[in-house]
Amino acid sequence: MEISVADEALLKKTNIMEKYDIIIAGAGPAGLTAAVELSRKFKILILERRKPGTTSSTWYSYADRAKKYDIEEAVTTRFDGIKFTSPTQSHFMKDDCVILDHNKVLQLWMERAIANGTVIRQETFRDYEYKDGGVLVKTGKGKYYVRLLIDAMGSGSKIIAKHNLIKRHDAWVIYGGLI
Ligand SMILES: Cc1cc2nc3c(=O)[nH]c(=O)nc-3n(C[C@H](O)[C@H](O)[C@H](O)COP(=O)(O)OP(=O)(O)OC[C@H]3O[C@@H](n4cnc5c(N)ncnc54)[C@H](O)[C@@H]3O)c2cc1C
Repeated sequence: MEISVADEALLKKTNIMEKYDIIIAGAGPAGLTAAVELSRKFKILILERRKPGTTSSTWYSYADRAKKYDIEEAVTTRFDGIKFTSPTQSHFMKDDCVILDHNKVLQLWMERAIANGTVIRQETFRDYEYKDGGVLVKTGKGKYYVRLLIDAMGSGSKIIAKHNLIKRHDAWVIYGGLI
């Protein structure tokens, strides 16, 4: 996407010299997989507050999904079924399950996004506001002006908290003007 003359003026006015079409806040599975797809067409900046490519989550999944999403090389263990129990609920995974090396999975997605030109920075998303048809994104280090902001900050997202949005762990929220 080309940036318009009006956008150029805004960039100068706000002292923002870098141009991205889309900012994705959060480099977890949601943010990275969105970047892999969107970076085929758009210039993407991912902001991640922690060291990008690391997570404390552990991922159990199904063998067919690892194949479908081309992350089989991150499989560490295969098993035929497991039952997770907690005081309030239990959950079964049966047949052809896998445990994935979580950091390896993130690494694979990062490599694919970067290969398409995505930039990933260790930088904390703070806030955003709509401006002249786009979004002004404020971080711990400065500001960016983009067409679209995608919230992939997981269940602890500042945006979800700010707007008291969905209280679900798979919430995925997009802000911005039309591309
Ligand atoms: C202990 C644990 C075990 C789990 N086990 C499994 C499992 O076995 N199988 C399974 O399918 N799922 C599992 N899950 C769930 C799985 O981890 C989540 O569904 C998945 O991580 C959600 O991906 P996400 O990208 O939406 O969010 P997240 O993985 O939470 O990623 C959000 C990213 O945003 C970043 N971020 C947050 N705030 C900011 C900010 N202000 N600025 C910049 N970056 C920010 C975070 O650092 C993080 O990297 C587990 C979760 C946990 C906690």
